[in-house]
Amino acid sequence: MRKILVVGAGQSGLQLALGLQSHGYEVTLMSNRTADEIRTGRVMSTQCMFDTALQHERDLQLNFWESQAPKIEGVGISVAVPGSFDPGPSQRAIDWVGKLDGYAQSVDQRVKMAGWMETFAQRGGQLVIHGAAVSDLDYFSRTYDLVLVSAGKGELVSMFGRDASRSPYSEPQRALAVSYVHGLGPRPEHPDFDAVRCNLVPGVGELFIMPTLTTSGRADILFWEGIPGGPLDVFNGVKDPAEHLSLTLELMERFTPWEYARATKVELTDAQGTLAGRYAPTIRNPIGRLPGGGLVLGVADVVVANDPITGQGSNSAAKCAAAYLASIVEQGDKPFDEEWMQVTFDRYWETAQHVTKWTNAMLGVPPEHVLNLIGAAGQLPPVAHRFVNGFDNPADFENFFYEPEKTEAYLASVTGA
Ligand SMILES: Cc1cc2nc3c(=O)[nH]c(=O)nc-3n(C[C@H](O)[C@H](O)[C@H](O)COP(=O)(O)OP(=O)(O)OC[C@H]3O[C@@H](n4cnc5c(N)ncnc54)[C@H](O)[C@@H]3O)c2cc1C
Repeated sequence: MRKILVVGAGQSGLQLALGLQSHGYEVTLMSNRTADEIRTGRVMSTQCMFDTALQHERDLQLNFWESQAPKIEGVGISVAVPGSFDPGPSQRAIDWVGKLDGYAQSVDQRVKMAGWMETFAQRGGQLVIHGAAVSDLDYFSRTYDLVLVSAGKGELVSMFGRDASRSPYSEPQRALAVSYVHGLGPRPEHPDFDAVRCNLVPGVGELFIMPTLTTSGRADILFWEGIPGGPLDVFNGVKDPAEHLSLTLELMERFTPWEYARATKVELTDAQGTLAGRYAPTIRNPIGRLPGGGLVLGVADVVVANDPITGQGSNSAAKCAAAYLASIVEQGDKPFDEEWMQVTFDRYWETAQHVTKWTNAMLGVPPEHVLNLIGAAGQLPPVAHRFVNGFDNPADFENFFYEPEKTEAYLASVTGA
């Protein structure tokens, strides 16, 4: 059977490794951390995944935590009145929630990746704990039929050239700060169902709140995305998790008091439940050329790393893994050559391009027609419904989001005007 090496045990690498294994390939998975190190390590993401991505996991029967993880039935949007936080209290100009057609879920990657890695080994997969270097890959590209690099935003990305034509930003656009907490109350507007709450503070940044399943059971995530250099960009160098949480709460009290009101009793899930960082959104050429002439194919974040503002990276990783798995199986015994690698990536880019376009648009200052659209959703439930289901299928934003004429025509079609 054909031998495939997968380097990096995240959403895409593990989903691919387990999927290939179930198709009978001889798979080696290389991870720079053991399952236990992942499980007891720092949180990595907020990893909210929508229905289409979750379905890829169900298709491979990898939805081990589906019955335990909270079902996220909606997405809510709140927009603060610009400048109302000064002197405060900050007020809401827009506030609504739309229902998802299929629920979303967030399973802490520490739980999922550790569990999947153990499953891969139990099913007879070869697990190698080693941080791969380019020189290792040079050797392995000669001994495996295919080498897939799914090592996220780590150092191995340097093998894949930046695609400037698809990467409008060369600097990070948001400073990220995550806290996993127990004890958050429900949003009083919908105590009977869970939703991802997106709170936009114009000119300052965004606060996302969502339920998750973590190592200690159900929890919620408080996730600030701050415009660099602004008042939310204060987490750099904060090492103490308690200080990280109190900063998070202070900012909530000032900028999103409606969310702070339900957060007064929260405590961190664990000492590793905070994360801070930033990165520049970057699209890369999918084929890495090794010094010895071998070729490797980049997967998910290695080749398409968007800012998490739209909560799409894990979804995209699942979609990328599903697309690559199909291309590998369809290739049969034919070589995994350069042409096949490019076609395989292009197949993924068919969906990924919509994620990149929408995410990059959300990082900028929203134009008037987008503000009108988000405002109209508060009065028009079909608009709220369409908008939030775009998180599952960002390609739909082409129809009503980017161009003022299309937004107007869409709103007119809903109101009958
Ligand atoms: C703060 C934050 C919030 C986010 N929220 C969401 C969200 O709500 N929804 C969503 O869909 N996405 C979200 N994302 C994005 C999402 O987490 C990533 O896009 C996704 O995890 C990418 O999957 P991946 O498989 O490409 O890489 P990763 O999940 O990064 O996995 C890569 C793995 O490779 C390992 N590795 C690295 N280098 C090496 C090496 N040399 N050798 C061996 N192993 C190596 C790493 O340790 C890691 O385990 C968020 C990201 C961040 C930072």
